[in-house]
Amino acid sequence: MMIASRVIVRGVVQGVGFRPFVHATATELGLSGSVGNSALGVVIDIEGDGEAIDAFVARVRNRPPPLARVESIEREDSPPLGRQGFCIIETDAGAVGRTLAPADVGICDDCLRELTDPSDRRYRHPFITCTNCGPRFTIIESMPYDRAATTMKRFPLCANCAAEYVDPSDRRFHAQPIACPECGPTLSFVEGDAPAVTGEGALLRARSLLRDGKILAVKGIGGFHMACDARDDRVVHDLRERKHRPSKPLAVMVRDVREARALGVVGDAEADAMSSRERPIVLVAKASGYTLSPSIAPGIPDIGIMLAYNPIQHLLLGLAGDAAGPAALVMTSANIGGEPILYSDDDLERVGDLADGVLTHNRPILMPCDDSVMRIFGSGRQLLRRSRGYAPLPVAAPFDLPPTLAVGADLKNTFCLAEGAYVWPSQHIGDMGDLAVIDSFAASESHFESITGVVPHQIACDEHPRYRSSSWARSRSGDRPVRVVGHHHAHVASVMGENGRDGSEPVLGIAFDGTGYGADGAVWGGELLLATYKGYRRLAHLGYVPLPGGDAGVERPYRMALAHLWHAGLDWESDLAPVAACPPREQSVLLHQLATGFGCVDTSSMGRLFDAVSSLTGVRQSVDYEAQAAIELEGISRGVDCAPSRYTFDWVQSDDDSWTADPRSVIRAVVRDLRAKVPADVIGARFHESVAHLVLEWAIRGRELAGVDEVVLTGGVFQNPLLLVRACALLGEAGFTPLTGLQLPPNDGGLAYGQVLVGSSS
Ligand SMILES: [Zn+2]
Ligand SMILES: [Zn+2]
Repeated sequence: MMIASRVIVRGVVQGVGFRPFVHATATELGLSGSVGNSALGVVIDIEGDGEAIDAFVARVRNRPPPLARVESIEREDSPPLGRQGFCIIETDAGAVGRTLAPADVGICDDCLRELTDPSDRRYRHPFITCTNCGPRFTIIESMPYDRAATTMKRFPLCANCAAEYVDPSDRRFHAQPIACPECGPTLSFVEGDAPAVTGEGALLRARSLLRDGKILAVKGIGGFHMACDARDDRVVHDLRERKHRPSKPLAVMVRDVREARALGVVGDAEADAMSSRERPIVLVAKASGYTLSPSIAPGIPDIGIMLAYNPIQHLLLGLAGDAAGPAALVMTSANIGGEPILYSDDDLERVGDLADGVLTHNRPILMPCDDSVMRIFGSGRQLLRRSRGYAPLPVAAPFDLPPTLAVGADLKNTFCLAEGAYVWPSQHIGDMGDLAVIDSFAASESHFESITGVVPHQIACDEHPRYRSSSWARSRSGDRPVRVVGHHHAHVASVMGENGRDGSEPVLGIAFDGTGYGADGAVWGGELLLATYKGYRRLAHLGYVPLPGGDAGVERPYRMALAHLWHAGLDWESDLAPVAACPPREQSVLLHQLATGFGCVDTSSMGRLFDAVSSLTGVRQSVDYEAQAAIELEGISRGVDCAPSRYTFDWVQSDDDSWTADPRSVIRAVVRDLRAKVPADVIGARFHESVAHLVLEWAIRGRELAGVDEVVLTGGVFQNPLLLVRACALLGEAGFTPLTGLQLPPNDGGLAYGQVLVGSSS
């Protein structure tokens, strides 16, 4: 029977080849009608045989284009109008609404093939893209997503490209950022005051600069990278000096999985993650024949590897037949210290100051976006930074949300906008200690409002009275309510929400991190919370230890070790590593502070306990980057057999009916082992085992008290793979269901999502 149907498809359906796909599918099934974008999503008016329409809808649901995400399909039937043919309706410029802006996508196999095919008209074209790949989020100025709303609008299509753009059978049909050598952007290479070299010459110069052991800045998708030969220790040192980044690990870029396997232990799961369209940096163990500069990831067993994800990077690494150049490049964001990544053409001079030469181009980057970072653990993936490739795609909300902005935390900041069934986490913004980062936060936030269409009616922020993110929220709130959310409550809520829990049943939330402002004014960070979105009860925490001198205690782990020794009633004997590391004058000031409590704040931080043990075992006395002491302790402990012993936390019941796990018993046992000449790696392994067992003991206690067996593991400490894998195994054996983040990081980068959920539940 002939009928007509209106089909409305919602989800990620713009900029992913959806309309061409609809056109091709309808034509194949002999249906007539039209397809267009609207405020509602993709609207398809279609008519023909009823069974063919059923088949059409099934195809849309089950086999959409690779980058599409179909969230819902509505269909309404009516009598046929006798339309002929099928057409694509141009986007109405006034249409705005809940269509989702797409994320940047790594170069696809088809484009890579054309890039290397001398007979293709886009052979060696640095800006080759198609419907299935290329920049999106970083070039979109506004929604709906069309070429005129991207930074590609300044490059009118040539006749050949225009023909592809309107040909429904072409892979570039309605692909917005396409270009070719005739009509696209151009590369240029700048070195000092010399005149710029353009085109293929620019690439040749850039590659010879790298070959000569110099530092190249190269404009990519979300900003400038600084690149150098990853095998050349001298130039890696030089790069670290220019970036003011003494030892924080640097990522390495190679061409493909085969080359990645020469550098790291890349299993199937790691290979899949690396070559996924998001192309994150994947952390893997260094391979046994590791030959890169030892300065790339000093002091740790892992290395971060990413595959080339845009054509410029492939050309830089060289195609078959090109003069040999470095096969592995250090690729790190171009910035100094904690400043935001440089991305704009206005930044060219600063980029030029950092590097020996700059490979740039004239396709503007509108939104900066750092590379994402991931680790595979067990059968799961853990995103440590969710940014390029993921932003600005939303994650699902576990319940219907009012229009909300959550501003996140001050470290590893990301924010979230939310409304209805969606939460949009931003790209990685950075550490809010830097004024330029706060500016970048504000710019990204207003851009996110425009591309999501969310007008927040409330703002959620952290409880910390001195967080810059929180004061930003208060200063911008106007007459909108500001929802203040406890730090660790937000951590737990974030994991609950990602796992689809609606909050009607509480979970046991174990939040281990470095620093979070607690409800009693102490620095929390070793917490067991019985939590729903509406509230929480603190069932247990790590016993308080005085943290002397705030930031100094974080930057110099020996201070934390001395505080733990003092707290445990142990003398500062000179053979102990933290005592030897602390200058005598600093010792006397510290002792005075601890004795009087002056300049000290109580902390239950698990991150600081890792610091103290790292210092005691002589692993790390002062840090150049966050969590360095704990990361290096995990590094030496991994794979070490600590049987049969571990340490135990004594349990103390507090006045308020909660329990504290006393770190003093562990510190005393560590010192006993040191005196007995137990090697540092064995002590480290025993300590990890102890903390994993503490997780289990807390879960058992929580189950006895509340009858709950879902256990959320969250907070930056759970980025520790040894601890996370062991804790999950122990919980599983004891019949618990461990819950961890799926897309959002366990560190403060995942906090804003939890703030949204708690802030919307009061
Ligand atoms: Zn492609
Ligand atoms: Zn062209």
